[in-house]
Amino acid sequence: MMNQVKIGAFISERRKAKGWTQSQLAEKLEITDKAVSKWETGRSMPDLSLFMPLCTLLDVTLNELFAGECIAEGTLREKADEVLMDVITSWLGHDKWESWKNDPAPQNVLEVENVSRLYETVLTGHENNRNKHKIKNNSVLAVNDVSFQVAHGSFVGIMGASGSGKTTLLHLIATIDKPTNGTIRINGQNIVDIPDEAAAEFRRRHLGFVFQEYNLLETLTIYENIALALTMKAVSKENIPQMIQSLSEKLDISAILDKFPYEVSGGQRQRCACARAIVVNPDIILADEPTGALDSHAARQLLDTLAMLCREYGATILMVTHDVMAASYCDRILFMKDGEIKASLSREQESKQKFFADILKKIEWIEGESHDVLEVVNP
Ligand code: ADP
Ligand code: MG
Repeated sequence: MMNQVKIGAFISERRKAKGWTQSQLAEKLEITDKAVSKWETGRSMPDLSLFMPLCTLLDVTLNELFAGECIAEGTLREKADEVLMDVITSWLGHDKWESWKNDPAPQNVLEVENVSRLYETVLTGHENNRNKHKIKNNSVLAVNDVSFQVAHGSFVGIMGASGSGKTTLLHLIATIDKPTNGTIRINGQNIVDIPDEAAAEFRRRHLGFVFQEYNLLETLTIYENIALALTMKAVSKENIPQMIQSLSEKLDISAILDKFPYEVSGGQRQRCACARAIVVNPDIILADEPTGALDSHAARQLLDTLAMLCREYGATILMVTHDVMAASYCDRILFMKDGEIKASLSREQESKQKFFADILKKIEWIEGESHDVLEVVNP
């Protein structure tokens, strides 16, 4: 554990080595003499903002300051990590440290590297057997050496014709299926290594899902469906009603919280699924054709909701769709064909309408003349 007295004595020793009085050090840091005296006797610790200036003045590293001693070059790393961990744990409290450690706010929430998925046996009668990326009579490379990143807070779409490998790719990222090759990192953790027994727990803790169907438990009310996700995430009971209330107002579902899923519309169900996904603050929300079963009004409302979750709740969303209208709500689109990512398109500052037109152009370019593979569905 961090030793405040030892740190104090260390500060005192280093100050004296510099030939300064307590007041001289205080003056340099623009603080009171009393503060320095308190540190040196181990009665208090310097303010967070003073660490770096103090270290510079005393000519020590931050790790040495925390350790309360000069650290020999050889043992530096080992010692430093150990000390830092103790310090941060005791200051931030265990919970905050856990979340900080697990979420050092990386640029990319998701990193997919050279991922492939080979199905050895093609399901007979599978809807997509007509596609061209079969490599042998009886096997199909559903995902073929795919690499991409998803930045924190972005809304990324994966587009492609039916059978192009979108769902397979999403299942790999969702830890529902395992790649034949490659690595997939979610907030730095390689999820390919997660054993099957631990996958469900990983999904509960780190992922949110908005799929076309099977989103909600039919025997629970909308409220209970959302609360269930929170309970599984071990959110304390007294916080749950408040969290659900504020979020459901935002998603325009507060009036239907006491209803069962079969009593509400498809659009309302999907917005509940969004609430359930976002409420646990997942690393990434995975959506597979979330608008697939909705009429165009409900679809637009859902897409607005997803975009809002990114904007206002800092959510990161990866959405599979073959619908150009849905894709036009994204920040960036990856185009899949025959298991590969053939192109990508960023929206930048464009309007949805302009982006929509660009997406169509891109699809045309990818498909060349063979429009038979292309499915543009107007909901
Ligand atoms: P999409 O979601 O883009 O329509 P899929 O990922 O569902 O595409 O399918 C990609 C390819 O992988 C298709 O050729 C499909 O037949 C095949 N495939 C999907 N799931 C399986 C499976 N469980 N076993 C064998 N082949 C599969
Ligand atoms: Mg699919």
